[in-house]
Amino acid sequence: MKFATTSRGDELSNSLQEKIRTYLLEFELEHDEEQPDIVISVGGDGTLLHAFHKYQHRLEETAFVGIHTGHLGFYADWVPSEVEKLVIHIAKTPFRIVEYPLLEVTVRHFDGEKSAQYLALNECTVKSMEGSLVMDVEIKGEPFETFRGDGLCISTPSGSTAYNKALGGAILHPSLESIQISEMASINNRVFRTIGSPLVLPKHHTCLLKPVNDVDFKITIDHLFLVHKKVKSIQCRVAEQKVRFARFRPFPFWKRVRESFIVE
Ligand code: NAD
Repeated sequence: MKFATTSRGDELSNSLQEKIRTYLLEFELEHDEEQPDIVISVGGDGTLLHAFHKYQHRLEETAFVGIHTGHLGFYADWVPSEVEKLVIHIAKTPFRIVEYPLLEVTVRHFDGEKSAQYLALNECTVKSMEGSLVMDVEIKGEPFETFRGDGLCISTPSGSTAYNKALGGAILHPSLESIQISEMASINNRVFRTIGSPLVLPKHHTCLLKPVNDVDFKITIDHLFLVHKKVKSIQCRVAEQKVRFARFRPFPFWKRVRESFIVE
């Protein structure tokens, strides 16, 4: 089996990364940064998000596992004291794969520039360059509302515990192939009206955002920050691709939620 490792870059994560590499090479696994079967990310959820984007072109052939060297680890659910155990698991036991849905985002431009397509593991957010975001929102090809406010967040089920949660969105189990749209401080009065509740869309129900005034936007895809100019539309839907996590022991989603947010 071929493996790669990524690190947040701090001293502890780097030394653990080195330890993992040495152990796995001793077990005669092959180190391959280009085409790994398994990627071991050492740091935090941010490090795993980076690893996901680095290998997003070969998701069908790559499984991810994360060790967290900081506080909260939602994707990164192994702790440094378990490194030896994890390495033996990787080297000796066939692992189970758990697949989570992803968000596909397509940004189309007015000037005929090629459309840009992204995959998000957590979410995409859309904000105006300055002032309120004003966007017509279409769902499944039908007009739904005109959104006015700070911005919109479209998240995956596994990303529902991240930014979406801070916006009052629901936590969704990753077995639900869906995306969630949550509002950032919408303007609601007698003149302007939005739904005001987070919406959960199933697979094949596309959400299309169309600019009303401004055509330049700040768009985030997980940790990535992008500026898109002359935007015609932003399309969001459940992606065909999925992310694959290597599971060596059961760690049910709701237990993970409880241990991340309620009690350790
Ligand atoms: P960061 O280092 O500021 O991380 C933000 C926090 O989000 C970290 O504590 C991380 O553990 C946590 N996190 C990431 N994914 C998670 C998930 N799926 N479930 C629960 N917690 C999760 O920033 P970063 O490392 O660049 O990560 C980018 C992510 O930060 C974005 O995808 C977004 O979800 C999140 N974020 C959250 C808020 C907010 O909650 N108000 C604001 C901006 C960004």
